[in-house]
This record gives sequence, C-alpha cells and structure tokens, in this order.
Amino acid sequence: MEKLSLEARVNRALEKYRGDSAHLLKEMQKILKEAEKVGDVYIIGRANMHISGCYFDLGNRVKILPYAVKAVSIFEKSNDRTMLARSYNILGIAYHALGNYQLSIEAYKKALDTIHGLKKPGVGRHLMLNNISQCYYQMGEYQKSIRLVQECLSIVRKKWPDDHLSVVIYGINLSDCYESLGDHQSAIAILDDVKADAECLGRGEVLQWGYYARRCCVLYTLGNLEEGAKYADLTVEAVNSGCDSYEGHRDFEKIASLEVSAGDYKRAQAFADILTKYAEENGHTLDLIISKRVQANICYAVGEEKRALALYRELNCLYEKRMSEDNAMQYESQKNAEAATREIAKLMKKVRDSEEKAERDALTGLMNRSALTNVAEEFIQNARENGKKLGGVFLDIDYFKEYNDTYGHAAGDEAIKFIADVCTEEETASVKFFRYGGDEYFGIVLDYPDEALEGLALRLCTKIRTSGIAHAKNPNGQRLTVSIGVVNVDVKDTENTLLDVIKYADKALYHAKDRGKDDVFAYHELGNSEHEFRRIVSPK
Ligand code: GH3
Ligand code: MG
Repeated sequence: MEKLSLEARVNRALEKYRGDSAHLLKEMQKILKEAEKVGDVYIIGRANMHISGCYFDLGNRVKILPYAVKAVSIFEKSNDRTMLARSYNILGIAYHALGNYQLSIEAYKKALDTIHGLKKPGVGRHLMLNNISQCYYQMGEYQKSIRLVQECLSIVRKKWPDDHLSVVIYGINLSDCYESLGDHQSAIAILDDVKADAECLGRGEVLQWGYYARRCCVLYTLGNLEEGAKYADLTVEAVNSGCDSYEGHRDFEKIASLEVSAGDYKRAQAFADILTKYAEENGHTLDLIISKRVQANICYAVGEEKRALALYRELNCLYEKRMSEDNAMQYESQKNAEAATREIAKLMKKVRDSEEKAERDALTGLMNRSALTNVAEEFIQNARENGKKLGGVFLDIDYFKEYNDTYGHAAGDEAIKFIADVCTEEETASVKFFRYGGDEYFGIVLDYPDEALEGLALRLCTKIRTSGIAHAKNPNGQRLTVSIGVVNVDVKDTENTLLDVIKYADKALYHAKDRGKDDVFAYHELGNSEHEFRRIVSPK
C-alpha cells in the first residue's frame, strides 16, 4: 500500500471520521506521535488543534485547553494564518468551556484579526463573531451580544442565503438575548423572521426542535399559552422520536417552570422527563442539577412536599459537587496549559536549533553558504532601498593542501577554525562572514566606504600573517597566509546581484593568487565591460 504523508493522513482522518470524534481523536494522537518523532512542526500543530476539537466534542472540558495552547504556540511562529486563526478559535472555545469568557473573547478576537484580509479565511468570520456574542451573553452583556449576532445574521443572509442552519442558530440566539432584556416583542419578531428558514430544516434536525423550544418559551412568556403549548408538544414529540441533543436544553427548564406557573403539570413533567433522561445518560453534574431542580419544582407545586424536600437536599449536595468540580477543573486545566506551554517552548527550541544547525557550519560555527542567501537578501534590500553600497570579501587559505599534508588534517581543522575566529571578530550588524567552502570564506558588507572595506580586508590578511602559525611549505615567509579579493558595488539602479558581488570578489581573489598570494586585491568596474584590479597591500 502506498505510504501516505502525515498531512495526507490528517486530511484522510478528518474525512473518514467526520462526526466520530472518539475515533478521530485516536487517529490524531497516533499522527501526533509520529510527527513529534520526525519533528514535523506543521503536523504537530494541526494534530494538536484537531485533538483539542475532539475533546470539545467529547465534552472533556479539561483537555481542550492544553492542546489548543500548543496549536496556537506553533502557528504563531508560522506564516499559516488560516491555521493560526483556527487554533485561536479553538483556544477561545477552550476558555469558553472553562467559563473564562474574558480570555475566550480575546482568543476569538485574535482569530478575527488573523483572518482579516485573507482571501479564503478558512474559519468563517460569522462563526467567530457568534462565538464572541455567546461569551457576552454568558456575561450578561446582552446588548453587545445582540449587535454581534445581528452582524452574523446579515453576513449569512447576504453571502449564504441557503445556509438555513446558521440563520436559525442566529435567530434563536438573538431571541434569547431579547428575552433576557425583557424585550419579548423583539424576541418573537426575530423568530418569525427566521421561521421560513426553520421550516427548511429537515424534520428531526436538532435545530428544528431548538427553534420550537425557543418559540414555546417566548409565547408562554407573552401569555399565549395555547400557541406555546402547541410548540411545547412539537418539541417533546421531536425529542422523543430520537432527535439529536442540542444545548437548547437550557430552554427546557424555563418552559417547565412557565408550565408549572400556569398549572400545566403534565406538560412540565414531559420536559422534566427529557431532562432526567438526558442527565442520566451523560452523568454531568450540571445536567443532574437542572433535571432535579425542575422535578423538585413540579413536586412542590403538586403538593408532593416530601419528595420535593428530598430533591432539594440532593440538589444541595450536587451544588457543592459542581463547585468543587469546577475548582478542580480550573486548576487542572491551568496546570495542563502551563505544562503545554513549556513543552512547546522546548519543541520550538529543538526546531530552532536544528534549523540553526543546518544554517551553520559544524566545524567553525560560521553560517554556511545556504544561509548566505537569506542574510544577503536583507542586505541587498536595504542597500537597494537606501542607495547604500554592498561589499564582498572573498578569502582563501594559501597552500592549504600542503598544510594538511605537512601537519595533518586535525591541524588543518584548527587552522580553519582559527581563521573563522579572525573573521568573526570583524562581524557587526552590517558585516557577516560565511564558510563558503573548504578553505574559502566569504564576507558580506553593507554600507562601507571603499577605504573601510579595504581596511577590513587588510586587517584580516595582516592578522593571519602575523599570527605566527607555521606553514613550512608556504614560500611567503613559511607561515600561514591567506589571499583576499574585495569588491564594493552599488545595487540601487543597477543590475548587480549577490552573484555578481561573489563573482567580482572571486576574480579579485584569483588575481591575488596569480600574483603570488598573501595579498589583497580589489575589483573595480571601469565601464564598457572593462575592469581592473587594484592591489590594496603588498605585504612582501
Ligand atoms: P590555493 O592557495 O591556491 O588556494 O591552494 P590550496 O592548497 O588552498 O588548494 P585548494 O583551495 O584547491 O584546496 C583546499 C584544500 O582544503 C583541499 C582540502 O583538502 C582542504 N580542506 C577543505 N576542507 C577542509 C577541512 O574541513 N579540514 C581540513 N583539514 N582541510 C580541508
Ligand atoms: Mg586554498
């Protein structure tokens, strides 16, 4: 079978396990391990992001955050803005799940900033605006929430009028906000406004009964009991016919409580039963609290005081349990997030180190030839924009083959390192040296006048000659020497490139070699494709 790349495996898993978060999680964990083994940072980032999403789908609130933090730390250092936006989004979801709405909003806003200006934003702007509005809703800031959802609704209606699902979600959310503000007329008006879209949703669709429940709630509140009861029955019927769950359960407690007030105990009991079943299935403390609270109120209203009292006692225990669970979760989640941050810092350092290593020559610690292009790029841009000169210094050890032959390869290595150190001593923000090849070094110099550049080359040549390293086979004084070629060119309004600088400096170097070595020559352009070499120093 063809071996898939890690990226192809991520994409395949997303497709294969759509809607099956448990399996997707397992596959992503496997991919993550392999990506960590080979140091594939992009895949590590993506796997973390998807794992975080799976934990959210599975309701594991503690685990969402650390993986989201890892994904964000990775993509913050990459150029992939779509992935960065998606990981900020999942970070927002993580904080939201933990009830930390302020941090959640910050993360969603960063996601929005990140997608701003992208041609294909990847994560829908309206989805993130809605996420932010949900945070404001939870914080009781209904006006802010309303403004945001209205924007979501108008975006979807304008751009994706067939996305009935989104329209209905935003309609429900808006209605909820209006109701919280006591504006029941607007709450029903918006539901009327999205009614046609709700009717387009397939029967049994989660949101359809979410919509019925919302409508029921508002109608009851407005005192339209008959019409409200109709939607209550539709909701119960849809849920009991095996429809998927929907967080709109939050309306069920309200509905049951309004029915209790109206003396409609039978309908209230139907909602209490749904909530009890739901809570027993998932075992979440909050859902148990809601179901028992609803049941207790019904019992109390129908005169079953003893049972009501027993339920209230149970509720007290559950409240305490929920509080300690929340504290533990906040603590554990924070701890995990901190561990994740440390882990990522380590990973990024490892990656940086290996990148640096690849750019640096192991023997001398100088940057290598492949790093030259990157550094030169910056220098050339600067020189071009500001009309500065770009200089090159090419240095080659004289009779180095003979040196190796005479003193051995290890001594040759030491000599190479020594000369690298001499070059490094000359480095500044605008002078950088590279190990160009075996016994060749190349320096790139920004904005030096000719005299300063030649002075630099002269210093190198003299320092090495006077260092006192013996080289019996070198006719120039039986000591270690080098030959150097320099050039200083304009790049603004000329065709000169890095390759030209290297080429001219190399020509000057070989001129020095031809003229007996242990020398510095400068290459000068004379126009009409003519050039000359000028000796900078004659050490003999
Ligand atoms: P010239 O003065 O004309 O430059 O002559 P040369 O002897 O330097 O000749 P050439 O540049 O062709 O050879 C460079 C030698 O440098 C060849 C190779 O054995 C040696 N060399 C290249 N890399 C290393 C290294 O990392 N360590 C050691 N010890 N020697 C190296
Ligand atoms: Mg040489």
